[in-house]
Amino acid sequence: MYSEDDYIQLSGIQHFAFCKRQWGLVYLEQQWLENLKTAEGRIVHERAHDSFSSEKRGNLIISRGIQISSKELGISGECDVIEFHRSDPESAQSAYIPEYDGYFKVIPIEYKRGAPKTEEFDRLQLCAQALCLEEMLCVDIPQGCIYYAETKRRQKVEFTDSLRNNVRNIISQIHDYTSRGTTPSAKRTKSCNACSVKDICLPQLEKKKSAKEYIMSAISDAEI
Ligand code: SF4
Repeated sequence: MYSEDDYIQLSGIQHFAFCKRQWGLVYLEQQWLENLKTAEGRIVHERAHDSFSSEKRGNLIISRGIQISSKELGISGECDVIEFHRSDPESAQSAYIPEYDGYFKVIPIEYKRGAPKTEEFDRLQLCAQALCLEEMLCVDIPQGCIYYAETKRRQKVEFTDSLRNNVRNIISQIHDYTSRGTTPSAKRTKSCNACSVKDICLPQLEKKKSAKEYIMSAISDAEI
């Protein structure tokens, strides 16, 4: 069990899966450059949850902007949307929600810009949300959905053992890098072209140094 001081940010999982160094630059070094893609992504998220809200439509409750965490995994974050569907009290997939005095099936929903991806990045993040909710609500959550702004459609995501194991493995690696305070080194791949921090990363120049170290060394060289 982790203490709250050691929680890592759930939103970093997709960055880490995309590129470990990108995660290090953004979450360890707080470096960030907004480009068209990140701006669009931010707007889609802001529309999904400006702040916490909850509405009831018959047997369905829709909550937005719910803070979530897991002591076991040592992560915290926020869900764009969670749908609670009234269901059978006997089912392991039913959570008791005191505010609505009933049992509900829990479905986390993540909002993303663009279209569905072949890579797991978005599914990993959604699955991490489900693991938090399972711990918080003592319930089984077998699936969730990702809404893609470009296609305006939801994609169903099954939380398989393999996906869950990948999430746990990434979280464990993030804790390891965080406790060491080490930014992973750059490895040039085709992902670099679409990377929001490529101008900070400079993988072609300094593979082993952090961005901060690179800037400091550039300043020191200029002063000589
Ligand atoms: S430019 Fe490439 S190596 Fe550097 S952070 Fe981005 S994806 Fe990773």
